[in-house]
Order: sequence, then C-alpha cells, then structure tokens
Amino acid sequence: MKSGKSFELISHFAPLKYTSIPFGLFQSVRNVRDDGICSRNGISLGAQKIESIAQILDKKLAVVGIDEIHMFPEQEVENIKKLLEQGTKVIISGLDMDCYGRLFPIVRQILELGPKEVKYRRSVCEICGNPNAVYTQILKEGKPVLAGLPLVVPDDGTYIYQATCPKCFVKSNLI
Ligand SMILES: [Zn+2]
Repeated sequence: MKSGKSFELISHFAPLKYTSIPFGLFQSVRNVRDDGICSRNGISLGAQKIESIAQILDKKLAVVGIDEIHMFPEQEVENIKKLLEQGTKVIISGLDMDCYGRLFPIVRQILELGPKEVKYRRSVCEICGNPNAVYTQILKEGKPVLAGLPLVVPDDGTYIYQATCPKCFVKSNLI
C-alpha cells in the first residue's frame, strides 16, 4: 500500500537503535512477501517473524512494534493486552479494513482498547490514482474476490492486494 505506514513505523523505531531502550519489531510468519519492514522510499528495518504475539511476552522489551497486524487472528488481542499490562509501549501498523469493507476483527478489538494515539493514513487508489483509497480490494486471477476468503489471508502471492477508493471498490453483497 502506498500510504506511508511502513515509513511511519520505521521513523519511530530507527532512532531507538542509538539508545539503550530494549525494543523489538515483529511481523507475522504469514507475511512471506517482506523480509523486514520496507518503506517505498527504500528505507528498511529488520523485523523478527513470529507465529504468535505470545512469543514477545517474555522478552522484557520497553517498546514493541508489530507490523501488518491484520495478519494476526483476533485472539491475539489478549497478548497485546498482556504486553500493555507489563508496561510495554506497543506500536501497531496495519490495514484497518478487509476486502469486504469491514474492520478486521483484531483491528476492531485493538480500537476498543482505547489506544493513546491513532494515525489514520489514506492510500493512493491503484485504479484511478486519487489519494483517497480507504479500502483494500483483493484480486485473484485479476478479479475482485467477494467471498470465500479465510479470516487471515495468506500473503504468499496467491492474492493481489489493491488499494482502492470508495468509488472503485467492488463491495461484496454477500455480507
Ligand atoms: Zn479509485
């Protein structure tokens, strides 16, 4: 997506390398496309692949960054709560809405935790080029997928993600 959310995460964590603050950046093992957090302007930062957010709990980190949160199932919100209870600062990046135009369950649950700050970025529509893309269309063999996707969609190249504006978005009428 061309929203600058990876750049946002990188700009927060890159300076921490020069401090003694224990921090870590994490990505789902489902994200096989990216190795680390890569911004479109060429800057990247290493991230550890994790199966579950539970793997971070015993690391005693002061600041934790989780990239592409929508690739985690909603039950993981319990582990985010545990991190917060430990006093860990948690910075999360990801898409908010799925390809049906609904909030991802885990994103909804995180918003219900009442985050201190939410930065909302719009992307550029990959169809018409307008800078007001708020949806993500998922394409398979060139056609919008309107039903039958698993809750957590693998990012292994089977599906193509396309940022779309409300005008270009083809909404599923099954839901
Ligand atoms: Zn558009």
